[in-house]
Amino acid sequence: MPRTVMIAGNWKMNGLSADLGFFDTIAPVARASAAEVLVCPPATLLAAAAGRCSGEAILIGGQDCHAEKSGAHTGDISAPMLRDAGASHVIVGHSERRIDHAESDADVRAKAEAVLAAGLIPIVCVGETRQEREAGQAEDVVRQQLSGSLPGVSQNSELVIAYEPVWAIGTGLTASVSDVASMHAFIRSALPEPLTTRILYGGSVKPDNAAALLSLADVDGALIGGASLKASDFTSIIEAAGR
Ligand code: PEP
Repeated sequence: MPRTVMIAGNWKMNGLSADLGFFDTIAPVARASAAEVLVCPPATLLAAAAGRCSGEAILIGGQDCHAEKSGAHTGDISAPMLRDAGASHVIVGHSERRIDHAESDADVRAKAEAVLAAGLIPIVCVGETRQEREAGQAEDVVRQQLSGSLPGVSQNSELVIAYEPVWAIGTGLTASVSDVASMHAFIRSALPEPLTTRILYGGSVKPDNAAALLSLADVDGALIGGASLKASDFTSIIEAAGR
């Protein structure tokens, strides 16, 4: 069964209600695309974005969640709350969360399990730092992150992986096509459900490099930060998916 390409945007801590027109601009391109299009706005815009995209071919996701369903966790948001607001997916273990909030693999796994328990699909991020790549440890680091962060998957639970080399995020540097191809093949070989699990690449994906990255056999889509903030860039990447 072919894996549907996913083009996912991560707005990070960007976006105000004045930016919701973005969804009207990308809607016709998403509708015409064979790719699954997901946008993860900040939590403040999630319900409004989901309402705006109702009936459109645009899914809405969260950028993180707490591992508990509810409770005394000021400022946190749970997976059932994200679902209630209209999310279908939740990014967990993004390197900015792992670094800024000292999230461990065990934390990421607990969040991914909470996402599945809420009936949503986790997008679990993994990726090595520049020092780790230069030391020849990229595969070991990613293997460790996968074994520590992936939820115990039952056959029916869908899971998405995002390979995001930390040094390529927001830097304009992209991993070479051959490095991406070999890391994605390595990740696939390490997955419990290798044939059905989608593996996205993330790290400075732009309109001018998207087609080459998305043409790789084990690249099932892209997770896009900076270029997802500009509707024209994001739609060019959706168009580059073209399969
Ligand atoms: C990201 O935040 O997941 C990301 C890949 O960012 P950028 O595309 O800006 O590198």
